[in-house]
Amino acid sequence: MQKQRICILGSTGSIGVSTLDVLARHPERYQVFALTAHTQIRKLASQCQQFEPQFAVVANAPLAQELRDLLAQFSSKTQVLHGASALCEVASANDCDVVMAAIVGAAGLPASLAAAQSGKRILLANKEALVMSGQLFIDAVAKSGATLLPIDSEHNAIFQCLPHGYQRNLDAGGIAKIVLTASGGPFLKRDISTLAQVTAAEAIAHPNWVMGRKISVDSATMMNKGLEVIEAHWLFGAPADKIDVLIHPQSLIHSMVSYVDGSLLAQLGNPDMRTPIAYGLAYPERIASGVEALDLSQFLQLNFFKPDFERFPCLRLAYDALRAGGSAPTILNAANEIAVEAFLNAQLGFMDIEKVVADTLGKIASQALNALDSILEIDQQARRVASDFVAKREV
Ligand code: NAD
Ligand code: MG
Repeated sequence: MQKQRICILGSTGSIGVSTLDVLARHPERYQVFALTAHTQIRKLASQCQQFEPQFAVVANAPLAQELRDLLAQFSSKTQVLHGASALCEVASANDCDVVMAAIVGAAGLPASLAAAQSGKRILLANKEALVMSGQLFIDAVAKSGATLLPIDSEHNAIFQCLPHGYQRNLDAGGIAKIVLTASGGPFLKRDISTLAQVTAAEAIAHPNWVMGRKISVDSATMMNKGLEVIEAHWLFGAPADKIDVLIHPQSLIHSMVSYVDGSLLAQLGNPDMRTPIAYGLAYPERIASGVEALDLSQFLQLNFFKPDFERFPCLRLAYDALRAGGSAPTILNAANEIAVEAFLNAQLGFMDIEKVVADTLGKIASQALNALDSILEIDQQARRVASDFVAKREV
């Protein structure tokens, strides 16, 4: 069997590291073509030492030099590139078969889109890229014949529970609803009146998953689930009314599909991203991921309840943005990235994240988006407006 050549965009992050963990278990199937990181040069150097990629990409020229100096210590043959255009180059290179899109936020869009346009197998973790670009991304996949596989655990679970061939044709497949499960994050039970005072350290202490800082804050506000509702809309062609959110604090059921005949199919497993990553890498085959099977004899509890929009107003905002369409999801995403960054830097209160996003959505008129340039332009505009709102609210 020819080895699959893998590019990992964002190899030093939480998803990137889990991906390398799975790849290391199957050296006969996979070889690493390119690794990319923003600023964690030492970590990238040690990944290069272990996986010997053809290319490594970093943010800028000084960091590239720093990486070359480190790589020279073990006579590495890895070529070092830098900058956003180099990310697109490795993601669309002829010698690359599979792209793991695991950069966080809007920064990942151009390279993820380049992978979609060049017909790769795309393992999509970078949900923000799809939320921002929606139709453009899906059209690029269809046009190039790329294979888009969801890595987000919920969407991966749904993909597994949908009948083969009907993953984008829900009505014909007899699907009544897609049910995204959500842990509810660290503040599910906390007194609402104290939420304004929570710190960044409290917000990123997720009960079930260890993840990057941005997605951890998004989980605490449930904006993450909101982004996932929009992501599900694009991945599965589902209208907002067909996508439900159900809080399930144990995170053992990763999501469900409800059928018109009354069947409810769920995917269960220990909460570990190596399962969806292994699924995406080997699909339609299955390979070991290092994750232990769930032991249902251990008195596991499964609880469920509906989300409370008062506690989690960001979830409502995201549904509204999806229903509004046009540029609203792009604006929502950009404003959220600015607000979360400000919260992590202690410049904004936790409950003000939603206010900054809502104010930004209210300030910018929605428009149709059909090209990368116009998406990036509206993204930048929303960032400026959101930054102004952050400055006015500063704590
Ligand atoms: P992370 O913060 O741990 O890692 C982010 C990666 O992106 C790093 O390798 C970093 O170097 C790179 N990066 C950051 N800014 C960049 C920039 N401007 N240019 C180029 N590279 C940049 O994040 P993560 O938790 O691994 O999440 C990555 C993506 O996967 C996010 O979109 C997140 O929503 C999604 N996701 C993560 C999980 C999880 O369990 N961590 C689960 C589902 C989805
Ligand atoms: Mg998820």
